[in-house]
Amino acid sequence: MAKKTTPRKGAVKKTKYIFVVGGVMSGVGKGITTSSIGKILQSRGFSVTALKIDPYINVDAGTMNPTEHGEVFVLSDGDECDQDMGNYERFLGVTLSRDNYMTTGRVYQSVINRERNLEYKGKCVEVVPHIPMEVIDRIKRAAKQAEADIAMIEIGGTIGEYQNILFLEAARMLKNMHPEDVFFVLVSYLPTPSKIGEMKTKPTQYATRTLNGAGIQPDIIVARADRDLDEKRKEKLALFCSVRKEDVISAPDVDSVYHIPLNFEEQNLSTILLKKMNLRPRQKDLKDWKGFVSRVEESQKTVDIAVVGKYFKTGDYVLSDAYLSVIESLKYAAYALKRKPVLHWIDSEEYETNPSSLRELKKYAGVLIPGGFGSRGIEGKIEAIRFCRENGIPYFGICYGMQLMVIEYARNACGIADAHTTEVNPKTQNPVIDIMPEQKKNLRDKNYGATMRLGTYEAVLKNATIARKAYKQKEIIERHRHRYEVNPEYIARVEEAGLIFSGTSPDHRLMEIAELPASEHPFFVGSQFHPEFLSSPLHPHPLFVEFLKACVK
Ligand code: GLN
Repeated sequence: MAKKTTPRKGAVKKTKYIFVVGGVMSGVGKGITTSSIGKILQSRGFSVTALKIDPYINVDAGTMNPTEHGEVFVLSDGDECDQDMGNYERFLGVTLSRDNYMTTGRVYQSVINRERNLEYKGKCVEVVPHIPMEVIDRIKRAAKQAEADIAMIEIGGTIGEYQNILFLEAARMLKNMHPEDVFFVLVSYLPTPSKIGEMKTKPTQYATRTLNGAGIQPDIIVARADRDLDEKRKEKLALFCSVRKEDVISAPDVDSVYHIPLNFEEQNLSTILLKKMNLRPRQKDLKDWKGFVSRVEESQKTVDIAVVGKYFKTGDYVLSDAYLSVIESLKYAAYALKRKPVLHWIDSEEYETNPSSLRELKKYAGVLIPGGFGSRGIEGKIEAIRFCRENGIPYFGICYGMQLMVIEYARNACGIADAHTTEVNPKTQNPVIDIMPEQKKNLRDKNYGATMRLGTYEAVLKNATIARKAYKQKEIIERHRHRYEVNPEYIARVEEAGLIFSGTSPDHRLMEIAELPASEHPFFVGSQFHPEFLSSPLHPHPLFVEFLKACVK
């Protein structure tokens, strides 16, 4: 018999669903809008969860190149997903699961699997309604699992494109099933062409019409623009898009995305939405968030951090999105110390062609090397690490950044000149970093999708180390995404030369944190896991904070 659960105290009777869709162009900030609306509704005492729908055929983001798609965010359950999932977690302070993320590929995959298992009982399985029904099931399941009063659902892509039609159809069907419980927010862009000098509403009118063509009427229009919306524009949008004037929310560009929930609240968005959803408004509590935002504004003294990586260039542009969570984590730690972080992007290949430019690293308060894959720019990164070690520059290496730190140490401090990782040189005589035994078969079978060591694992920390001091506890849980590890055969030699493995898996088989003693170097620390996936504005990650402390010293 199904177990009866008692509803959470104060829970609403029926979950409310708010879909967020984008108009006019991509990159208008649907993810931050979704997170911010979630935040203000949460601040009214409702439990909120958030889902992301990615129109890609890829089953997850793990197989997408970060320069094209942005960062691959990893959830506690190991799901490799879109970076917006990170925004939701950071804004809402919740832990999401793989049920909160879906792609076209994932949806089709489960429908096809069910068809193969005869679960449709001989029926013809069709794109409509079976695909939208699967989408609806997933949305409901995620909301239920999170015991959410309100589920925010962001539909990726832009209104009018082919790829997200079935997701809009799912949203329309859900509204039809629960007319009182489903709502729509259109995030649209209003350009002000420089030659015309006037903000234009027409593209948003078209976007609304197109949305209407999918059977959907927006309840709220979030008007993104480089400036505030004036009354005239609001009236126009209200008239032509069939919304009330107060349902048009002005969303100008801002310096810090963390200000956006406050901007929304200045326009009473949570109260407007609660009224529409027929939920009784409760006391507002955004105190902690406001505290964080004012700390951001008060942080004037700068701290310069160099991030040495490779996923920066797309055509003529520098794209730092590939490292979004790292960037945000650096910010939270800096703000916690009342410093304004200034990040400098350095392509490590520069140090291979032009080693003398390594000296520029002296200009920075600290250097971070984030996760990565493959051989491009590796030797440049290793040289940068050496420079930091020899010159006492605080260094923080994450995942690949930690593996390369161990290689650098093996080469230059233990005298193992050809130390390497088998990821780059499978034939090396000294595989200081080697494939994990359980990963060998995956690579042999070309089984790449979702097969790394993913998600949370425990680690234990050694006493009297930087790591132990930072965490203030002995046992930790962190998120991972890797196939290679420190080769156990080299641990003793590396440790004898002075590097400490201050964090290991509970069975001491896997090295999770490496560091030099604080007496030898202000901060030379690397983690095999990704601390950036567990850092948030209100809870900056201890390792990032410790790194920043060393940087500002
Ligand atoms: N390429 C390395 C590995 O697979 C590091 C991965 C990472 O930095 N996320 O182990």
